[in-house]
Amino acid sequence: MNISKRPSPTTPTVDFDRDGIQHGHLRLPWSRDDSAWGSIMIPICVIKNGEGPTALLTGANHGDEYEGPVALFDLARTLKPEEVKGRIIIVPAMNYPAFQAGTRTSPIDKGNLNRSFPGRPDGSVTEKIADYFTRYLLPLADIVLDFHSGGRTLDFLPYAAAHALPDKGQEKACFDGVAAFSAPYSMRMIEIDAVGMYDTTAEQMGKVFVTTELSGGGTISARTASIAKRGVLNVLKHAGIVSGAPEVEVTQWLDMPSSDCFVFSEADGVFEPLKDLGEKVSRGEIIARIHPIGRTGTAPSDYRAAMDGILAARHFPGLIKTGDCLAVVATLTGGP
Ligand SMILES: [Zn+2]
Repeated sequence: MNISKRPSPTTPTVDFDRDGIQHGHLRLPWSRDDSAWGSIMIPICVIKNGEGPTALLTGANHGDEYEGPVALFDLARTLKPEEVKGRIIIVPAMNYPAFQAGTRTSPIDKGNLNRSFPGRPDGSVTEKIADYFTRYLLPLADIVLDFHSGGRTLDFLPYAAAHALPDKGQEKACFDGVAAFSAPYSMRMIEIDAVGMYDTTAEQMGKVFVTTELSGGGTISARTASIAKRGVLNVLKHAGIVSGAPEVEVTQWLDMPSSDCFVFSEADGVFEPLKDLGEKVSRGEIIARIHPIGRTGTAPSDYRAAMDGILAARHFPGLIKTGDCLAVVATLTGGP
């Protein structure tokens, strides 16, 4: 990683070393037409009580994913310092400009925060946010939980996830965190393109890193909100920061064994799923069709599963374009 030594222009209005609860902001200067010396104010909450581990909890790394913000605004409002041993740093909406706009990427610079790490203190607004997390927040953390969902264009089975890592001790600690989160599904995840991700940066710093994909479609459901709220408390209990045992539910472990699990569209048209999320699929079976929309009488193109498993993710909107991720098939396993 090429990490700058130049100081960040971002200033926290909270003191990370003070006991008690503080609701404040990360103030990131953003000079613009309607506010010459203006700033982006990213909400942050710090809850600290004595010595103990630090959890860094984040949502809306992508601005159109809502389980994280709902669970984390709720946690920041309800958790009391006396219930904590150690420190919890809560940023419910990491890419705050994207979250305000309801879009995956930032409306300011089109920055995709989860492709902007480790970031730059002298870069775009999105790169400055990434840099602040890389050099100021991640070093404070022992365990990191970053909430994702599918956003407007993908829908997922609700799962917590971690990655295969070269350090097997670190990898086990990450999967122990996934098990503690206790989503209905738990995934051993591979990435299409891991370069520039918050995940990769945190993992390379040796952190225990847990992520999620909790449905999607650019909205939230009662079910996934409750999964998120229970999951974050479970991870804090697992880390010994909140007392009590995690509320563990039955989880189905899944694996993404190779890039064959991703199915990509090679046509534009209207998307017809032949399988729904959670349904079993067999290798070679047709899982979706794309119908051309220019004229009648034209045959659809068929898309097949490359492996046995279940449908773990799918394209969400009704229309689809060439190159869109159409589906993800995951295999059923007994554990990480
Ligand atoms: Zn995301």
